[in-house]
Amino acid sequence: MATAISSVPASSNADSSGRYGTVRNYIGGEWFAGDGALLDVHSPGNGSLIARTPLSTAAAVDAAVSAAERALPRWAAMPIKERVQLLYRYRALLEQHLDELTALIVEEHGKLASEARAEVLKAIELTEFACSLPQIATGEVLEVSRGVECRTERHPVGVVASIAPFNFPSMVPHWTIPNAIALGNCMILKPSELVPLSAGRIAELLADAGLPAGVFNVVHGGRETVEAICDHPGIAAVTFVGSTRVAQAVYRRGTSNLKRVLALGGAKNHLIVMPDAEPEMTSSNVAASMSGCSGQRCMAASVMLAVADADHIVARVVQHARALTPGESLGPVISADARVRIERYITEAVEAGATLLVDGRGTVVPGREGGFYVGATVLDHVTPEMRIAREEVFGPVLAIIRTPTLDQALDLENQSPYGNAAAVFTERGSAARHVAERAGAGMVGVNVGVPVPREPFGFGGWGDSCFGVGDITGRGSIEFWTRTKKITTKWNADAGVNWMS
Ligand code: NAD
Repeated sequence: MATAISSVPASSNADSSGRYGTVRNYIGGEWFAGDGALLDVHSPGNGSLIARTPLSTAAAVDAAVSAAERALPRWAAMPIKERVQLLYRYRALLEQHLDELTALIVEEHGKLASEARAEVLKAIELTEFACSLPQIATGEVLEVSRGVECRTERHPVGVVASIAPFNFPSMVPHWTIPNAIALGNCMILKPSELVPLSAGRIAELLADAGLPAGVFNVVHGGRETVEAICDHPGIAAVTFVGSTRVAQAVYRRGTSNLKRVLALGGAKNHLIVMPDAEPEMTSSNVAASMSGCSGQRCMAASVMLAVADADHIVARVVQHARALTPGESLGPVISADARVRIERYITEAVEAGATLLVDGRGTVVPGREGGFYVGATVLDHVTPEMRIAREEVFGPVLAIIRTPTLDQALDLENQSPYGNAAAVFTERGSAARHVAERAGAGMVGVNVGVPVPREPFGFGGWGDSCFGVGDITGRGSIEFWTRTKKITTKWNADAGVNWMS
């Protein structure tokens, strides 16, 4: 079988499109050249050209939908216990190829090997959850009247699509792939055009695990491809993960075409630090939350709300931020454009009166001069009206706002239109409870800087961070990927009747 990408060394696969050549679409179990223009893919670690991605048109989406439609009847009719046998094999393959999958993410995304490895481990955990669906996604049965029984069954939605962002090339696609296919759907994945490589390996490993052709398809592309997905009448449900602006557009366009849509958007997460917080644990958590994956996480700490006298904690956060070495303990950001955008936010904040405690602008890593690095940055005395306090920066930048009281901190957190995550650091249970109750976010951490709910709990924010009903992972996703059928049965002529009979 031809492959979309190659895991073999550069020498045997190098061409004018870089080490990985031109990535291809995976449709109906075969690899096809994309039909649109090609976009260069650069490795953020050193700026080198590593691949080209096709910006596929509606024709490629249509071909993928046809392949998925052909596969759907047999796949949907298979008992769920049989379907997940394949996911057990897939999970084993993910583990077997952990190092290789990690290296691929490092190359296309630039994050640290430890961060990339954690992402693949999370993909494994998500696959394990899907393997448990036969035990969880069951129907119900009840004798609703003497001899009359009502039963519910879960049926797949049909052909579905998953549109992914750049920041987690493996984990975010795994938020949807295992659950959707375990529940009997056939899927089209549209990866980010900035990180197209992992998707090809996912397709290969699913095929190696025995997934029938057409159950999982990959169509590479950008805006045109996404719009074709939203418009295609053969696609019943769409998930999207990315920025709020695009999430809103996808939600509007998909639902106006009468599809089920769950669209997760951007974030601006607030961490409230009380003066009684344990200093070392708090400062290391805050620094890790703002800098992990170079701040390119929708769960990253973006604003620290320092309540009352928190100077001793701010000082430690600064120490932790200064200890981060770009290229060693801090990866690059995704592109040269992203670096320019992030540095502009920092400069504007300084010009607006913020105090720059740690400056990550102008970072160059020796030997990787072409890489897109921004050093960890800490700004103190930021005010709520500054752009850096309101907008998603998506880089290793922490804005500290000083507030006299906890309720003033909560008011600021509540004013944000986003609602992905919030956290509080304190040793006082009543303060923690107060924040958990009043924070305007779908995921709240108490002394946890990145409060990602682990399986079986669902992942999902509020406000401008999520459009649609339910969570994208865990139990919350079962409703999204299935339709229920309600069957009322009476076999005995003498049986009682229910009120409708
Ligand atoms: P993005 O919105 O630019 O792109 C996401 C996807 O949409 C990509 O597949 C891209 O090809 C496509 N796209 C881009 N522009 C489009 C347009 N105009 N019309 C239609 N499709 C378009 O996001 P990104 O930069 O790849 O990812 C970063 C963003 O994702 C951040 O805002 C981050 O907070 C968010 N994110 C959110 C979550 C969450 O769970 N809420 C998780 C991860 C990332």
